[in-house]
Amino acid sequence: FPIIVWIRRDLRLTDHPALTAALESGRPILPVFILDELVETYGAAPKWRFGLGVGHYAERLEALGSRLILRRGKAAEVLRTLAEETGSDTVYWTRAYDPDAIARDKSVKAALTDAGLTAESHAGHVLFEPWTVETKQGGYYKVYTPYWRSVKDRDVPAPETAPSSLPAPESWPESERLDDWGMGNAMNRGAEIVAEYLTLGEEAAQTRLGVFMRDRIADYDTDRDYPATPGTSGLSENLAWGEISIRSCWHAGIRALHEGKPGAETWLKELVWRDFAYHLAYHTPRLVSGNWREDWDSFPWNEDGTTHEVTRWKQGRTGIRFVDAAMRELYVTGRMHNRARMIVASYLTKNLMSHWKIGLDWFADTLVDWDPAANALGWQWASGSGPDATPYFRVFNPETQLEKFDKHGRYVTRHIAELSQRPPETATQFYDAIPRSWGLSTSDSYPSTPIVSAKDGRDRALHAYENRDF
Ligand code: FAD
Repeated sequence: FPIIVWIRRDLRLTDHPALTAALESGRPILPVFILDELVETYGAAPKWRFGLGVGHYAERLEALGSRLILRRGKAAEVLRTLAEETGSDTVYWTRAYDPDAIARDKSVKAALTDAGLTAESHAGHVLFEPWTVETKQGGYYKVYTPYWRSVKDRDVPAPETAPSSLPAPESWPESERLDDWGMGNAMNRGAEIVAEYLTLGEEAAQTRLGVFMRDRIADYDTDRDYPATPGTSGLSENLAWGEISIRSCWHAGIRALHEGKPGAETWLKELVWRDFAYHLAYHTPRLVSGNWREDWDSFPWNEDGTTHEVTRWKQGRTGIRFVDAAMRELYVTGRMHNRARMIVASYLTKNLMSHWKIGLDWFADTLVDWDPAANALGWQWASGSGPDATPYFRVFNPETQLEKFDKHGRYVTRHIAELSQRPPETATQFYDAIPRSWGLSTSDSYPSTPIVSAKDGRDRALHAYENRDF
């Protein structure tokens, strides 16, 4: 009887411990993807991107003589039914560490066990599982640097190789059709434009890693801060959907370190930030849902995501060029450079004094690399409410940042059409990428004054901070 391998955010064949374990059993393998209760809650862009990844993965499995069975419904019920239909008694999957996924997986495990099935989860999504990293006192880490120190010299097992075939069951159960699910239905913006910027699937992710290792990692230390320079790996999109394993990235980084490439350590540190986000999401689930520092609950944030100011922020029309270029980059590419993420997050939470959760939700709806833990840590870091966060009184000045990191205006020109006589396609694409309902067009002029200037916003934020009651 087959082993069911429940495929989730792990759309790869290489270094997939759950799949390897199933292969080692010598039994036929039945891969299944479920549009389940959790995936149904995903924001528009992540759900769309996930659907594309699933379609691509199904093709890869077919090339190995296998299939991806597609089912929709509550994960526990779907798996139980599938086991009944196929006579399977075992389900494997890759462990997840964010609270929503943990809650789903716990209930699935309980339901399957009650039904007399074996439910087994395997590692694979992070380098170091959250409970394996402890402070000397036996607690979890709240600060990144000591976390990094405690893991940086650990052995990370080498990535497992991809199977060349997967044993198929004697007969395949019925599968639904991905196209019927409409996983991109909520993408009420120019999906075909964002699609031009995607790097879909495992092979493409591995190529991306190879190119980064060959051409960019040596200068990563300096180049990674300049949003107009292709200085980073771009792998977050693939890591988010598991199209490449974090161990593959780690080992590539270690090789670069041994070759003496200067940016390698900094890059390894970034990979560990991803792990650290999961470490915190696991140990303190409120990371993804509320102020990590609970005293911030009484801070007078604006919590309305529909105010004029917030709307302008979402639309990339604040009149602050760095912020607007970044928000437009998000619309056209589904991604945003890390420095730009920090700037827009600081502007929203400090200059506009709006709650970070508004930004978190917006990113969760628009990013193709949306990751529940990294997104939450990023927002709580930027707003000052998180562990090891930048203090609230440290307000990024978007003008100074622009002078430092986009001195020649390449990023701004790339994304804001109204600022050029002959704007590049990346800038005009914004108007085709955004929802029609916004009613914006290329003939609109760029805001002549910012909705809230860098200085006024800073003063207001600092005043509120000084008068806080905690
Ligand atoms: P590289 O610089 O090449 O780094 C390699 C990998 O390390 C990344 O792919 C990513 O997996 C990881 N990484 C790098 N920086 C961070 C970080 N600060 N925190 C956690 N992991 C990191 N990243 C996401 O993957 N998904 C998100 O939803 C997300 N939301 C964010 C929201 C805010 C407000 C902020 C400030 C940051 C957010 N980040 C998020 C982190 C970071 O911006 C992206 O991981 C990075 O821009 C991805 O680009 P890259 O793949 O070229 O990264």
